Amino acid sequence: MADSVVSRDLDVLWHPCSQMRDYQAFPPVEAVAARGSRLILADGRELIDAIASWWCKSLGHGHPHLRAALMAQATAFEHVILANTTNQPVVRLCERLLAAANGLDVQYWGPQAAPGRRAGHFSKVFFADNGSTGVEVALKMALQFQQQSGQPARTRLVSLANGYHGETAGALGVSDCGMYKEPFASWLPACTYITGLPYRFGPDDPLWLDASAEWPAIEHQLASVASTVAALIYEPVLQGAGGMRLYSPDLLRRLRVWADVHGVLLIADEIAAGFARLGPMLASHLPGAAMPDLAVVSKGLTGGMLPMSAVLVPERIYAAFDGDWAERKAFLHSNTYAGNALAVAVANATLDVYADEAIIGQVARRGPRLRAGLAALATTRPGLREVRGCGMMAAVDLRRPNGSAIDPTQRTGWKVFQAAMARGALLRPLGDTLYLFPPLTIADTDIDQLLTIVTDSIDAVIRG
Ligand code: PMP
Repeated sequence: MADSVVSRDLDVLWHPCSQMRDYQAFPPVEAVAARGSRLILADGRELIDAIASWWCKSLGHGHPHLRAALMAQATAFEHVILANTTNQPVVRLCERLLAAANGLDVQYWGPQAAPGRRAGHFSKVFFADNGSTGVEVALKMALQFQQQSGQPARTRLVSLANGYHGETAGALGVSDCGMYKEPFASWLPACTYITGLPYRFGPDDPLWLDASAEWPAIEHQLASVASTVAALIYEPVLQGAGGMRLYSPDLLRRLRVWADVHGVLLIADEIAAGFARLGPMLASHLPGAAMPDLAVVSKGLTGGMLPMSAVLVPERIYAAFDGDWAERKAFLHSNTYAGNALAVAVANATLDVYADEAIIGQVARRGPRLRAGLAALATTRPGLREVRGCGMMAAVDLRRPNGSAIDPTQRTGWKVFQAAMARGALLRPLGDTLYLFPPLTIADTDIDQLLTIVTDSIDAVIRG
């Protein structure tokens, strides 16, 4: 054991988002390979990656087309500064990404797409190097846009209660996730949170497309700050880290109307929900939703192979940054790896696969299986409540049989996580919210096996 990888790990490695003391009783497992929706461990066991490795592996592990694109680009050049240089793949990616984000047909963003930009809502792409920095870009762009559009008093940022937007200061500042930001609360930028969201169970909820009951109270909160707001940021329809909650797309439609009336920009953080996780290419395309002013994509953008994010910008916003150098209107944000050539090549390959393997159709066909599986389980286990799902995502809350919350210090979700690891799935619940967020390409048989593991793990923990 002394010189095993695991013991050496515990000697030197501080794992993300972990209480390291937990690892003494429950050490990390050693991955040696990963294929499709499975991780292969050093001891020969396989784990179903039920959370797509923090929600990014939309096309599963080791997709051959993505790997080939990565190798081919590595032999040409791997990274060149994106200021003052260009290259064919990055321009092509911008054109295709804009077409996909603008909701155009696959012929305009698939592998056969002709060169050139098609008319549509978004017209420019700004690259950053991960989700959090993409959010920072969008927030800064919105604040600077307002200053350069004769609205210097618009300096306030608004977001939704239970939202999560990343770990850098600006992104954490607009996030509403107590435990994660508490230690830094006094230092983070201020933000106004909108409460009383129209939470729903999913597209088959009778009130999925109707937020009218909640809207007056939301509009009231917005009214008190309207004249000082630069932008309102939200995770469209799915709030991931805040508990895998779904809200009515009708809220976005209403926010769109409100924002237009009041001169406020809307920022959609599509980092988790985009790239077909909820069904369409962007969650903002869901029926009944609305387009934002700025959209941030990451994770699925490269099929989860390499870190990269992109902010999609309409012409109206881009135009506010145009001027002579001396006017100081330029957007002076730089991330070293913006437009990294390896990530760009993989993102182009990702769009190829989304087109060639009809990923959006696969999600529509296969996604309901996840939700139906959890719903069936909940009918026989009174402690499973609030089953919800949309696209390739489903969640359920672990409660006491009478429906009340379990004392969080019991760490029930954590125990289910450990039980599932022993049975062959990597779950990582959010507190006592258990969710399935596998690669979009997961096989039906793997979904069924995953549901069996979830059932057995819950039973082992709850029934003892
Ligand atoms: N926004 C959302 C909605 C996310 O889910 C995440 C990551 N889970 C982020 C932002 C931050 O992305 P990253 O971890 O790449 O910085």
